[in-house]
Amino acid sequence: MLVDSHCHLNYKGLIEEQGAVLDRARASGVTAMLNISTRESEWRDIVATAEREIDVWSSIGIHPHEADAHPDIDLAKLVKESRHERVIAIGETGLDYYYDHSDRERQKQSFRTHIHAARETGLPIIVHTRDAEEDTASIMAEEMEQGAYSGVIHCFTASEAFAHKALELGLFISISGIVTFKNAKDLQATAVRLPLDRLLVETDAPFLAPVPHRGKTGEPAFVADTARFLAELRGQDYDELCAVTADNFYRLFSKAKP
Ligand SMILES: [Zn+2]
Ligand SMILES: [Zn+2]
Repeated sequence: MLVDSHCHLNYKGLIEEQGAVLDRARASGVTAMLNISTRESEWRDIVATAEREIDVWSSIGIHPHEADAHPDIDLAKLVKESRHERVIAIGETGLDYYYDHSDRERQKQSFRTHIHAARETGLPIIVHTRDAEEDTASIMAEEMEQGAYSGVIHCFTASEAFAHKALELGLFISISGIVTFKNAKDLQATAVRLPLDRLLVETDAPFLAPVPHRGKTGEPAFVADTARFLAELRGQDYDELCAVTADNFYRLFSKAKP
């Protein structure tokens, strides 16, 4: 078993040949994929892909980049759309102060609304955070005090201190192809020390193709390269790392069935 816990199968670069992309993923051992929403206009297509493909699941949410474009996003809408049987997660949401594509206050508000939806539905939240560790950590902690929710820090690139805060809140950490990059020494050092029972792997395809595919369009098949690199880095057996991260996936996203 090998799971790509975060990809964008309906984005340009993958949508044009989605069938072939899925075939290549299956051929490299990928047994499940979580296809992530970033804006409301994608929701219908993303859920439709999950209805059609037995090994593809979907999320419902609004990316922090898109917070300004969705001023009317509310709890009721997120909750309603996520009741679909193929929707297993809320997000991706979070804070991105690197690009600042949306107003920071609006990003924070949207992030909290997604956490409320996660709490109400019992579905895990998918957190995107870039150059916003402090605010991300404080919102997650404040909200956890208001009532429990579960989730994952996707495409983790933050500090080890932030990883500890997320782990203390019970969240999982997902490692992307960035860990294979030569200049990712800090991330590699953190990735070695993360507890195995909270670890996930992902591609964030079509972005971030890992070594040896750098420069190409990322696709879920490449999660095998990231898992292989990570297993070697941690001194673990590849099959074991695949099996445990898949098991973690189904523990966190318990609405999905293997
Ligand atoms: Zn993201
Ligand atoms: Zn993403």
